[in-house]
Amino acid sequence: MNSKITISQYVESVKNGDFTVEEFSLQILENINKFEKKLHSYISINDDIIKQAKMIDLKIKSQEKLGQCMGVPISIKDNICIHGIKTTCGSKLLKNFIAPYDATVISKLKKEDAIFVGKTNMDEFAMGSTTEFSAYGLSRNPWNVDYVPGGSSGGSAVSVSSSESLCSLGSDTGGSIRNPASFCSVVGLKPTYGLISRFGLISYANSMEQIGPMTKTVKDAAFLLNIIAGIDSKDNTTVYNNNENYLSNLDIDLKNKKIGIISEMMGKDADKKVLNATYEAISKFEELGAKCDFISFNTVNYALAAYYIITSAEAGSNLARFDNVIYGGFKLDANGYDFNTYISKIRKNFGKEVIRRMIIGGFIPSSGYVGRYFIKALKIKSKLIMELNKILNNFDVVLSPTVPVMPFKFGEKQDSLSMYLIDLNTVLSNLTGTPAISIPFKFDNGLPIGMQLMTKAMQEKLLLQFAYALEKITNINNIPSIN
Ligand code: GLN
Repeated sequence: MNSKITISQYVESVKNGDFTVEEFSLQILENINKFEKKLHSYISINDDIIKQAKMIDLKIKSQEKLGQCMGVPISIKDNICIHGIKTTCGSKLLKNFIAPYDATVISKLKKEDAIFVGKTNMDEFAMGSTTEFSAYGLSRNPWNVDYVPGGSSGGSAVSVSSSESLCSLGSDTGGSIRNPASFCSVVGLKPTYGLISRFGLISYANSMEQIGPMTKTVKDAAFLLNIIAGIDSKDNTTVYNNNENYLSNLDIDLKNKKIGIISEMMGKDADKKVLNATYEAISKFEELGAKCDFISFNTVNYALAAYYIITSAEAGSNLARFDNVIYGGFKLDANGYDFNTYISKIRKNFGKEVIRRMIIGGFIPSSGYVGRYFIKALKIKSKLIMELNKILNNFDVVLSPTVPVMPFKFGEKQDSLSMYLIDLNTVLSNLTGTPAISIPFKFDNGLPIGMQLMTKAMQEKLLLQFAYALEKITNINNIPSIN
């Protein structure tokens, strides 16, 4: 049995009785045994995988009604709550935090008979772009273990790429699904703001983030989106999606469709290899009959600054709740400390990057400075929304490299600014609430390069159709051989 298959192939095979859910789960566990020491996709692994697989097999045997997932082994980023399971957010502060309820996406997957393989490694509180900021050690890129896998949903991308799971859910505040998807050669979709419930996702910057699928193929992303999308009374920011079927009619003719390329996202600081790959992607789309044009979008130059201002301010307020009193479980006896000393002793256990964001996040909205930074950032956000929508009145989608640089070695980016610059092309869709997808495109010296497509809010279907067309024409092998 091949454990490196896609969701559609898995579902088909289980239906045909080619293998049982238990047999497949054992394969996934075998991959974990083989690779996990090297790759470290997971913070924790579910002890009940085989028990759950056996139960689904029983259901199949007795011809009980079965959910669409039929035991699909899925990994979940460790900032999404699963009832009764440890949810650390990659932080020491939540080392022993057991989630008291299911996130809505988890309830939906449970209903469809998915099996949760484990909780994946991530930068602490999803702040980072390489998974180097996890309190539980870094994850490695399956294409070359000396290189970062991207982040913050690095563990999710690694688990899918190495077939330590069939698919995964990540979260994306400024690129955390798409950047590791690009670095590990998997598909990563950041949906429209509000398409997917954030109930049960531990917040970093609520106004920007979304949960989304990370998969081997575009079809698999559509499959998961069908399950997790839709309005939720537990999250007032969710929107009605007309019960769209994202899997149907993926194959469309791109003749005369229009693709815009934002020059500012192909700037002089981008890696030549990445730029050349993007020119190749443009040619591929032209081969398919689409019309590609370069456009200038000046305000994009301010997007990254606006993103880090708004997200730090939100993070400062969101993370104030972690005092180890209600949430936590970090072991530090309060005896002998006054309240303030205890809290500050506890909060010193946040990692450096999280502390940096909280300090900036406290300063930015403070009276006297709020107009200088925060309000300005919000103005840029509004301007970006207006201008991007105008562009998307003239183009079906916008194409760019997902990340302007190639995957790099551990420790290579030491200063915060060069780390933040990795997010140059991804933050736009978070600031504007629009959907964006990263698709594996090619390899350079064995390292993956992904392409990003963006479109108007709620046009996930169109985005998936373009992504599917690119995936078909490139037809790359995105299964690494891990030694
Ligand atoms: N790298 C970005 C940050 O640190 C994005 C993180 C994310 O999308 N969660 O904020």
